[in-house]
Amino acid sequence: MNIKKELWKEIDNRKEQLIDLCCQLIKMPTENPPGEMEDITEFICKYLEKFGVENKVHRPKPNKPNIVAKYGNEKGKKLIFNGHADVVPAGDLSKWDFDPYCGKVKDGKILGRGTSDMKAGLGGVIFVMGLLAEKKIPLDGQMFLTVVPDEEISGELGTKWIVENNIVTGDACVVAEPTGYDNCEVGQRGTLWVNLKAEGTSAHGSLSPYVGDNAIEKLIKVLEGIKCLTKLHGEYEGEVKEVIKESKIAAKECLNKPGVENIIDHVTVNIGQIKGGTKTNMVPDSAQADVDIRIPLGVSTQRVIDNIDKVIEDLNLKGITYTYSWRSEPNNVSINSEIVKAVKRNTKDVLGIDISATYQWASSDARYFRSAGIPTIQYGPANTEGIHSYNETVDVKDVINAAKVYAGMVLDMLVYD
Ligand SMILES: [Zn+2]
Repeated sequence: MNIKKELWKEIDNRKEQLIDLCCQLIKMPTENPPGEMEDITEFICKYLEKFGVENKVHRPKPNKPNIVAKYGNEKGKKLIFNGHADVVPAGDLSKWDFDPYCGKVKDGKILGRGTSDMKAGLGGVIFVMGLLAEKKIPLDGQMFLTVVPDEEISGELGTKWIVENNIVTGDACVVAEPTGYDNCEVGQRGTLWVNLKAEGTSAHGSLSPYVGDNAIEKLIKVLEGIKCLTKLHGEYEGEVKEVIKESKIAAKECLNKPGVENIIDHVTVNIGQIKGGTKTNMVPDSAQADVDIRIPLGVSTQRVIDNIDKVIEDLNLKGITYTYSWRSEPNNVSINSEIVKAVKRNTKDVLGIDISATYQWASSDARYFRSAGIPTIQYGPANTEGIHSYNETVDVKDVINAAKVYAGMVLDMLVYD
């Protein structure tokens, strides 16, 4: 399609403009917490308005601005692009080789917190939307952009809120989260965050174990017991089996630790926090632990909960209770869906390679779109080393190519021959 080639040429011609937009986004520190999002929201809205892109800011609460921008013909199909404008804190500044909010380009890389996760991907989508509007490219359908303020702190007042309140609906969705140029994410594990509590009876420390009931010792038994959850795994067939296989290979290559590929198809358990007791010479009457359980496709959160119940029952201990603060199911999109085909076709044309489609071991806002029945992928530029760590960067060439892929997908999905 000629229009696509022209648009790609135009992206090349204006690459400085695209990279400058990404640098501007990096220069605005949007660390979450605290999540001061108003300045960046105003900046993005003004940028879009310059090209006549219609947009509206929705606030479920003060300082939780969600931008919904649209371009095209509302009668046709709807393709959503989504990105978060918040970033994780820079942390210990002495561990950075550069100012995390410098937003400078050096040796073919943009430097700074949020370059890979995910202001470069977001910048690419904003740029493409502006370009389509400026060139008045006619679409048979509608392109949406949703920019959310709180992905790094769970997405409750961002993507979850806009999806559950039907502020945006669509036929497919692309989340511009960092996947690297040669991979797209087509599924992710579920999550269960469990707070375990043990209650005991206090006594003088010198009398233990004959008098009193030690809550810490009971909690340790339960924590040992729930390690058996890591044996739970999914059974797969058809395309899911294929993607699982490919994802395990990718995980092994990326993480390079013996057995690490099991994170793709097995439950994993991390005891993240523990506290209990009052003083060394007292038998503790309370203890608690926070546990992060990740759940692969083919295993439900209910199955994990049933297993936790069984562990506690089999131990036959009194005073053990638990609650969960985050519960989400594993989710995926078919690799035969139109959106997956569109990203594969366009990356092939832009980069000349067949990209992989894999399941990720963590989770993201993609789950909210998928749980609303919207086929969703993640694709975005990334250098994985610095994400949620120090010295975060993104390669300039990856940003330009990703923008071309986004533009190509809009034309493939929303311009009908
Ligand atoms: Zn992210």
